[in-house]
Amino acid sequence: MKYWKKYSKEKLIARIDDALASTIDFQNSKHLGYPVSKLDENVFNTSGTFLNNSPLLKSFIANPNNIGCHTLGKSEPAFKGSQELEKEVIQVLAVDIFNAKENEYDGYIATGGTEANIQALWIYRNYYKKNFNATLNEMVIISSEDTHYSVHKGSNLLSVDTVSIPVDFNSREIIIEELDTIISNLKANGKKYFLVISNMATTMFGSVDNPDMYADVLTKHQVAFKIHVDGAFGGFIYPISNRKSTINFENPNVSSITIDAHKMLQAPYGTGVFLCRKNLIENVLTKEAQYVDGMDLTIVGSRSGANAIAVWMILFSYGYYGWFEKINTLLLRTEWFCNQLNDLRIEFYRNPFMNIVTLKSDYVPEHTAKKFGVVPQTHEGENKWYKVIMMDHVEIDDLLKFVEELKAYQKVIS
Ligand SMILES: *Cc1c(COP(=O)(O)O)cnc(C)c1O
Repeated sequence: MKYWKKYSKEKLIARIDDALASTIDFQNSKHLGYPVSKLDENVFNTSGTFLNNSPLLKSFIANPNNIGCHTLGKSEPAFKGSQELEKEVIQVLAVDIFNAKENEYDGYIATGGTEANIQALWIYRNYYKKNFNATLNEMVIISSEDTHYSVHKGSNLLSVDTVSIPVDFNSREIIIEELDTIISNLKANGKKYFLVISNMATTMFGSVDNPDMYADVLTKHQVAFKIHVDGAFGGFIYPISNRKSTINFENPNVSSITIDAHKMLQAPYGTGVFLCRKNLIENVLTKEAQYVDGMDLTIVGSRSGANAIAVWMILFSYGYYGWFEKINTLLLRTEWFCNQLNDLRIEFYRNPFMNIVTLKSDYVPEHTAKKFGVVPQTHEGENKWYKVIMMDHVEIDDLLKFVEELKAYQKVIS
């Protein structure tokens, strides 16, 4: 790990204080043309000694704006400090976690996984338009049936069709023969440009798609394609638990990646990360954004610099090894839970590198599911699966009570 270090609390606070000092000080300087300010002190408690040890609260009060993308071109000089910290976050993620080469990536902290996925689709749609004169009818989004619904939202917004590829019921793996047939049919119907969303852990199962499988089949059919990896859930787990993973920027098939910081990393909501290779993000330049200093390359406009600081704080409070230990604790709990289920002969799905266990619904009575807050695959129609996620707050003592109820239910049904 070149950049992902652990800093002491003093160092964290000093860096954040420096960052905030270099954002404009609304108290002492008059920025007559900026429609920005610190939080309203008539409404919020914005001063007091309690702030001394609360760099995040101080950041929220200072209210820096990280508008724009800071890995290329110019940026608003008024908020340099929080933008620098964001650049460090993007660097750790791109280089240390996803093996990008130095300065060969772009990225920013989006509002969440939804925005980051749509940003990718937007970039590829415009890329095909610009470079191939492609029409909307010639493009298609493909992804597995377990893909997050944000992809359908993107399809609707961008007016590009989307097609779901079936997965095997038990292994949750894409059925390659189906993929092959679907691509043949799409090609016969005039589709030439493919936008692929490949999951690095689906929301419901934690299943991981193989982007090379998409690449092989699409290459065989001689169509153009770009692959985006949706690691909204798995981005902070899978590359760490599976050191042999090839789902990163060393793999030429991978062009961009989504990672949410507000899921596994427990950052405040509004912190999804978008990463891509160089020379792609320019496809979504909004030339009309003239009052902002720097290029406008993001879906969101103004966005919270304090959120970027929060992600920076989390990463550098743990460091790589601290985070590695945390993930392994969650994986140990997952193992423990799977062993209990195996003893009870309860059928479930789990990717060995992930902390999600999805149980077949036959083994879980509805009232138990409600009582323990396990999440059904669907709230409408017949539900076949329930998932349990091993997060910080899901401890073995809690899992044990759930297991006891499943055991009692087994006696009833057998
Ligand atoms: C949660 C999630 C998203 C959407 O993320 P938001 O942050 O809620 O917008 C996208 N993809 C996957 C796989 C997810 O788990």
